[in-house]
Amino acid sequence: MSELHKFLFDGLPVRGMIVRLTDAWTEVLARRASNKTTGAWPPPVAELLGEMAAAGVLMQSNIKFNGALVLQIFGDGPVKVAVAEVQPDFGLRVTAKVVGNVGVNDRLSDMVNVNNLGRCAITLDPKDKFPGQQPYQGVVPLFGDRHEKLQSLGEVLEHYMLQSEQLDTTLVLAADDKVAAGLLIQRLPTEGEGNLAGSLVSKANEDEIGVNEDYNRISILARSLTRAELLGLDVDTILHRLFWEEKVLRFEPLAGAQGPRFACTCSRERVAGMIRSLGQDEAASILAERAEIEVGCDFCGQQYRFDPVDAAQIFTSPGDQPPVNPTVQ
Ligand SMILES: [Zn+2]
Repeated sequence: MSELHKFLFDGLPVRGMIVRLTDAWTEVLARRASNKTTGAWPPPVAELLGEMAAAGVLMQSNIKFNGALVLQIFGDGPVKVAVAEVQPDFGLRVTAKVVGNVGVNDRLSDMVNVNNLGRCAITLDPKDKFPGQQPYQGVVPLFGDRHEKLQSLGEVLEHYMLQSEQLDTTLVLAADDKVAAGLLIQRLPTEGEGNLAGSLVSKANEDEIGVNEDYNRISILARSLTRAELLGLDVDTILHRLFWEEKVLRFEPLAGAQGPRFACTCSRERVAGMIRSLGQDEAASILAERAEIEVGCDFCGQQYRFDPVDAAQIFTSPGDQPPVNPTVQ
């Protein structure tokens, strides 16, 4: 069962989380593989999406935001877009648009950062928006301080966390065809005391970036976690192996209905709305060529079909519809 574990280091300004997506992840892959139009993703793309899904759960849990957290990579290589979306209840879905050949040994830069023009966008889309409110979005490049191409998504997102939250973060991610998992270690912000002004608090916090010894020690331990360990070991074993000399305080893990799981937010109504936005002429021209308008959800594979009668209904406002005959059930 997929699970999310949170923990603290007793007396230290450091917190951590581990996510393991198992059934949620294999369901995502199975849905894609069974899609007759697309077939399965190339393994390196699936790995990238698994890491994005794991990172999305960790980040969503970290910020406790009432809305969708969307990680998007806009690539300049064979993978044009990769998306992972995590809802506040940890329902998650992913997809990617692959436009070229992905080799079995392709790394992050081969897929999405060939010319160093790839970007990663992190969007927080509030559930209850006030009129005109835009989602919050941060964008980071896929290169480091010296413009070197980054080869791990974890590094890319660590940069984002440092920029957006001024917090040191360690993110170890991995995925294969059975498990997508991640470990997050983060330095806790310096707490304000009494009437200390916010600016002084943030100054104190900035002074701690990169130099907090407790965080640095735990971060080094976290980074020693191998891909095989992260994917193959249960959470108790991972925590014991990495932090057996630390005092780790654990919270009740989130699993099952409270934990991360596959969930798609698509619906027939939303697809109808999309067709409506295409316009009646465009819909008519599609129907002139084929018997129905068929739209597949990129995330879950669900097919939505609209025949000419359905399509006509989409473009008929409720007031224009003929009265329902009450004798017809
Ligand atoms: Zn869907």
